[in-house]
Amino acid sequence: MQRISSLAELDLWRGRLHGETLGFVPTMGALHEGHLSLVQLSLDRGAKTLVSIYVNPTQFNNPEDLAKYPNTLEKDLEMLEAMGCDAVFLPTAEMLYPEGLKSRAFSFGCLDLNMEGAGRPGHFEGMATVVTKFFELIQPDFAIFGEKDYQQLCIVRHVVAEENWPVEIVPGPIVREPHGLAMSSRNLRLSEVERQEAATIYAVLSKVCAEAERFEGVEELKSHCVEALNAVPSLTVEYIECCDEKELQPMGELDPKTPTRLFAAVQCGNVRLIENLPLF
Ligand code: AMP
Repeated sequence: MQRISSLAELDLWRGRLHGETLGFVPTMGALHEGHLSLVQLSLDRGAKTLVSIYVNPTQFNNPEDLAKYPNTLEKDLEMLEAMGCDAVFLPTAEMLYPEGLKSRAFSFGCLDLNMEGAGRPGHFEGMATVVTKFFELIQPDFAIFGEKDYQQLCIVRHVVAEENWPVEIVPGPIVREPHGLAMSSRNLRLSEVERQEAATIYAVLSKVCAEAERFEGVEELKSHCVEALNAVPSLTVEYIECCDEKELQPMGELDPKTPTRLFAAVQCGNVRLIENLPLF
């Protein structure tokens, strides 16, 4: 596996591809099975696969979250090497932000009005800034984004369409721990008790999705989730939202004919966890 630590090395590696398809998987490191599943999707498409590992400061609205973001670089590199990843790009802030750590402006339509867009000001601008910088430098044929960050996936798709980036955006399904908790680098910061209790998030939401017809309406469904989750000692709900899958607008009523997802952000101890599941 090629370890790429400069823009010159990136250009050199890129130049040696000779027309082969290039798949790109952006990550912030502390890799787990969820990330590796995205790498595998790219390899399964027969593409040369490049993974970036970069903790992007402009997408963190909370300085403590950035300072505490886990770093397991040596283990990450071993895992990528073992699965046959072709290259890993380890940029510095200077390479990506030569003019300083600033986000650029974007039009996200109405996709960033709710959920993470409302709760984490500047997060999506920072994310889209670094993703478009990566697209410019790497020029992948396709890039893979996990459904774990569903709103991010929708926003990246939107930006790519709006700005005519010649990159196919490929979604990857959510990979979960055996007890249902969606894998996340931030799970490393949970205590054993918090980890057990965090599993309730999936347990509650998946049951609600399976039994959606027993609720009178959206508000009753959401209140049920909030009450069930807030009853768990280490959990505090930030939001529960039912949104249509396309525009990510809150649903006024439960409509089985409209593809809908149930979204949640829940604080577990000091760790903020996000989750989403298909409702209809
Ligand atoms: P991150 O390192 O958290 O920025 O995530 C990098 C990519 O991996 C993003 O596209 C995430 O959506 C994706 N990802 C993170 N966790 C999971 C998971 N449990 N299952 C599938 N994809 C994931």
